[in-house]
Amino acid sequence: MRLLKPRNLPTIREYLKEFRTEQCPLFLQHKCTQHRPFTCFHWHFLNQRRRRPIRRRDGTFNYSPDVYCTKYDETTGICPDGDDCPYLHRTTGDTERKYHLRYYKTGTCIHETDARGHCVKNGLHCAFAHGPHDLRPPVYDIRATRVPTTTTAGIEGEIHGSSSTVFSTLTSTTSSADVARLFRELDEAKRKIKQWEEAWHQVKQACEACQKDALEAKEQAKTAEAERQLAEQKWEETERKLKELQRDFDMLCRTPGTPLLRSYGELEQLPLSKLHSIQSQLRNDLDLIDGVRKPRSHTFHL
Ligand SMILES: [Zn+2]
Ligand SMILES: [Zn+2]
Ligand SMILES: [Zn+2]
Repeated sequence: MRLLKPRNLPTIREYLKEFRTEQCPLFLQHKCTQHRPFTCFHWHFLNQRRRRPIRRRDGTFNYSPDVYCTKYDETTGICPDGDDCPYLHRTTGDTERKYHLRYYKTGTCIHETDARGHCVKNGLHCAFAHGPHDLRPPVYDIRATRVPTTTTAGIEGEIHGSSSTVFSTLTSTTSSADVARLFRELDEAKRKIKQWEEAWHQVKQACEACQKDALEAKEQAKTAEAERQLAEQKWEETERKLKELQRDFDMLCRTPGTPLLRSYGELEQLPLSKLHSIQSQLRNDLDLIDGVRKPRSHTFHL
């Protein structure tokens, strides 16, 4: 492992291969002077650690320069998939992306250089080129080179965070990075549309259930109303019949041919057989009245 000395700056190759890939031995001895502010060439904490980018024999990268890992913990610097994870780990300073074979020094920095030749914004380790002599051609993943590219300049100046508008950066100088980002944004948009669709579907289902309940309640109310009307009708009919019977009974009582109710005293003069006949007649009448007085029995014995 090399230790950074003044006037003996690491080469581009050394940045690609070694920048922040090893832990600082001085830091472990509490002797590193580049800890605060953190400008050390090596990593001090695990979330500053960067994996070396490698283009494998089949032309693919060991990890993507564009697609961020969703499992990487930016605080601890740990990914459950370890160093074999094929996605980009968002290390401190986004070093896995900036110092990737795909991007490192492939674009020109928008910031000036100070008297010592250090970038005024990004310092000694600036990942962008300060002058044409500092530029290098990007190395692409074989899968990315299948997308036609019209420029080798790649990203210039700063690497911007992912944009929220899908076609925000589709220009005449579309690089494979832009295309990759567009694909990511498209995926994200598709995912959002799917979420909306699911939410809409749920709302629709809830709505349909509500409508069904409302219809059922309406039907029940209708049935209840019909039953109530029927009961009312029956009650009215019963009342009418009762009145009829009372009228008949009154008439019967006033009829001169019926000796029964002319006066109480005359009853004693009647023969027993006649009394029995009157009694049975009265019973029949009473049964009839009783039957009418019970409207729920629905039978009137008329
Ligand atoms: Zn250090
Ligand atoms: Zn990962
Ligand atoms: Zn710079």
